[in-house]
Amino acid sequence: MNDATRVLVLNSGSSSVKYQLIDMAGGDRLATGLVERIGEPAGALVHRAGDARRTVEERYPDHTAALKAVAEELRRDGLGLDSPELAAIGHRVVHGGTRFTQPTRIDDAVLEALRGLVPLAPLHNPANITGIEVARALRPDLPQIAVFDTAFHATMPEHAWRYAIDKETADANSVRRYGFHGTSHEYVSRRTAELLGRAPESVNVIVLHLGNGASASAVRGGVCVDTSMGLTPLEGLVMGTRSGDLDPAVIFHLHREAGLGVDEIDALLNRRSGLIGLCGANDMREIARRMGEGDADAQLAFDIYVHRLKKYVGSYFAVLGRVDAVAFTAGVGENSIAVREAVAGRLSVLGIELDSVRNGVRGDSPRLVSAPTSRVAVAVVPTDEEYEIARQAFALLRQD
Ligand code: AMP
Repeated sequence: MNDATRVLVLNSGSSSVKYQLIDMAGGDRLATGLVERIGEPAGALVHRAGDARRTVEERYPDHTAALKAVAEELRRDGLGLDSPELAAIGHRVVHGGTRFTQPTRIDDAVLEALRGLVPLAPLHNPANITGIEVARALRPDLPQIAVFDTAFHATMPEHAWRYAIDKETADANSVRRYGFHGTSHEYVSRRTAELLGRAPESVNVIVLHLGNGASASAVRGGVCVDTSMGLTPLEGLVMGTRSGDLDPAVIFHLHREAGLGVDEIDALLNRRSGLIGLCGANDMREIARRMGEGDADAQLAFDIYVHRLKKYVGSYFAVLGRVDAVAFTAGVGENSIAVREAVAGRLSVLGIELDSVRNGVRGDSPRLVSAPTSRVAVAVVPTDEEYEIARQAFALLRQD
């Protein structure tokens, strides 16, 4: 254990890499950036460090080229990967299966196990693994730590994670509910307790992570007891492009009656459903604007989105028994006054009283939007998955 306190967080997607260099001594963000369109003819890297902001437009044939370019930008700011102050690289990994339920130091055996999990997350894990391989090649001696989107939900009791289907078939195929966005749910539930001035162990929170992907979780005393996403991120809430919950027989019906193949149905439900499928737009700002113009499709999409959310909020009240706070986060949750108003408004039956003035104030720090008399606090808590990954990676180093 040395005195290094910086953690580089890498979030490697199929054609992009997002990164942040965070100093865990004070939580400062020393650099942030994004490489986009990896593998395409015209890629771009946007890098920020302090007051410096640089954009590089170049072709990045693969993740190796992209990460080398990131390393070069960091080096130009005196923050290179060879810096003795760099303690570790923290990697976001989407699916940890049942094996990885904690932040994990990556070695060859772990990497092999991650490859074995690809069938559970074929769209996400391969890119996460590539990012790890490239980062290890660049700094073989540096601790590399995987932090999993599924891990926070590993505490769900079996009656919450098990699907009511034939047990043997389910177990033989790893079919169960895993949940995603775990680093966000963990961060936001903890920050909500802090906002209330209470210990996380004593607070029950419903977290609504409403971004382009969206999920809800029920957190009892800092421990997740239920969440809306399942085997994959498709289950649960209505999302930007995903349907969320539906009768599984819709799939058989579309196959038998409309002749759609399994990949076509997969694409339909994951990429052409949800808000975009209902009204042609997945950005809540555009939907709000169109609603203002009286657009019936946009209004219906909004109403279906809110109805599903209300059902999850109600059911998590039943699951938790006592709820101290409902916390809104991510792009829609942090910014859409209308969605918060529609979900939390008129819920006095559950002890929720929204304060319309507080709810209408924009801001980027955690805040309460409920009335002082509300039995249940309603909070807006900006999420920070990168910080949470860095925090967990750094905590693991400290344990070693
Ligand atoms: P995320 O996945 O967390 O980055 O969230 C992205 C989504 O947040 C976008 O698709 C928009 O629907 C939504 N969003 C971002 N800014 C706003 C805003 N000012 N008002 C309403 N929705 C917003």
